[in-house]
Amino acid sequence: MADFEIPETHEFPVIPTVMEGVMSHSAPYVAKAEFQEQLGFPGGGGELIEGWKEVFLEKLGDMLGKYRSLQVFMDICVKCGACTDKCHYFLGTGDAKNMPVARQDLLRKVYRRYFTFAGKYFPKLVGAVDLTEEIIDEMYSYFHQCSECRRCSVFCPYGIDTAEVTMAARDILSHIGKGQKYSNEIIGKVYKIGNNLGLPERALADTLEGLEEEVEEDTNVKVRFPMDEKGADILLVTPSADFFAEPHVDGLIGYAKVFHAAGVSWTVSSKASEAANFGLFIGNYENMRQISLRIRDAAKELGVKRIIFGECGHAWRVAYSFLNTLAGPWDFLDPNYPVPQHILDFTSDCLDRGILNIDKSENDWMTLTFHDSCNIARATRIGSYPGSQFTIPRKVIKAVCNNFYDMAPETIHDATFCCGGGGGLLTDDLIELRIKGALPRMEALKNVIEDKGVTHMAAICAICKSQFTKTLPYYGMTMDQIVSVHQLVSSAIILEGQGDENEADADTEEAA
Ligand code: SF4
Ligand code: SF4
Repeated sequence: MADFEIPETHEFPVIPTVMEGVMSHSAPYVAKAEFQEQLGFPGGGGELIEGWKEVFLEKLGDMLGKYRSLQVFMDICVKCGACTDKCHYFLGTGDAKNMPVARQDLLRKVYRRYFTFAGKYFPKLVGAVDLTEEIIDEMYSYFHQCSECRRCSVFCPYGIDTAEVTMAARDILSHIGKGQKYSNEIIGKVYKIGNNLGLPERALADTLEGLEEEVEEDTNVKVRFPMDEKGADILLVTPSADFFAEPHVDGLIGYAKVFHAAGVSWTVSSKASEAANFGLFIGNYENMRQISLRIRDAAKELGVKRIIFGECGHAWRVAYSFLNTLAGPWDFLDPNYPVPQHILDFTSDCLDRGILNIDKSENDWMTLTFHDSCNIARATRIGSYPGSQFTIPRKVIKAVCNNFYDMAPETIHDATFCCGGGGGLLTDDLIELRIKGALPRMEALKNVIEDKGVTHMAAICAICKSQFTKTLPYYGMTMDQIVSVHQLVSSAIILEGQGDENEADADTEEAA
């Protein structure tokens, strides 16, 4: 199945034997000139641009001045080693440079050489190195073996955030002609078409129409999936995977049923038909801002009162942490609601108010566990109180399912393991890294399958769902064992009038 070895799973995480350079061959394709330029980066076409060294150092100098956290992270690591075994890519590959501290050092040793007194005059004493093409290649490879999940920062006594170092390094690399093909092409599609998948407006409209028919066939209730509907209360901003791929689309059906049952009007926008914001992954503020502004424009044009985000991990991080800075102020929205709001917060509130008619037994054929997505777990809240990013998803799952068990405590909540495909790494040119990086989550899942009879894992992130669909078969499970949380809601919710016609038909047959 694979031309690399699939790591063995164990009952407890095993710290692998350290292997120097075992993943040095792993690097994503470099973006072509046209995909660099549409994002405001210099061409390069896979090659370093002329004067790349000066541009690199100038950009690093700029960032050190602008982002004090980066300067601090470059200076304060004491090499305590607490982070070394916390990264899923190190645990899955054993490559020494996948230890978070070693990853940071790729940038730190250049920083020391050019920006510190000791590094300028006594480079060998402080581990400082000259900036060479070999160092750039190494950075390109290993900064694309970090999913920016921030697990390591939870365990670092100084709170050093390797994800922020990775983002800075990727942004600098983009500025010298070494942008990543996958992320940059996707951002280009968002600018041109409105979403990551390049789904044009007509195709999106057809898909939504098809979903209306499908739900009506299933339930005998006309649940609407509106697009570009002016005056709707809610603008739903959701990952484009929700529009067609399994298990994502089942989640979208779930949101629509909840909106229907709650009696609120909503719409998606053809202009902002994407929640994802890959500007975060490439560490580039300007692109992150431009992507976010589409949502502002759509909300204004449609005259909505509220914005709700669907199930997407990094999109929620950008929305929760940065949307106001990037695209605010949002003073034209209704101040009675959170700006923005997570779909789980909305559903949880509907459950609290008793307006959803739920039959939990519809999900009895499954036993669930829940994967905390890293961006949500370590960078956001879903409700208004601390820890709501952990409690609200579990509360909703338990409200619609009878059988639920958590995975081991050291693998959930803020210690959750990344799925292995986040941070702009969900591309087939990195499949070996993705499969190996999924090891810790696969281990924890297998353990809860064996101990508790779990059959399915629910998630609230489009990247996690896509990554697990791909990963599960490599570890002896099946791709349909990953489900959307709102897919569970969708199965359990009983809409007013649901099945009436079928019952009427049955009554008529009986009478006959
Ligand atoms: S942020 Fe995540 S992927 Fe990156 S080094 Fe830390 S643990 Fe590894
Ligand atoms: S835990 Fe923090 S201080 Fe310790 S080695 Fe890792 S990054 Fe450095």
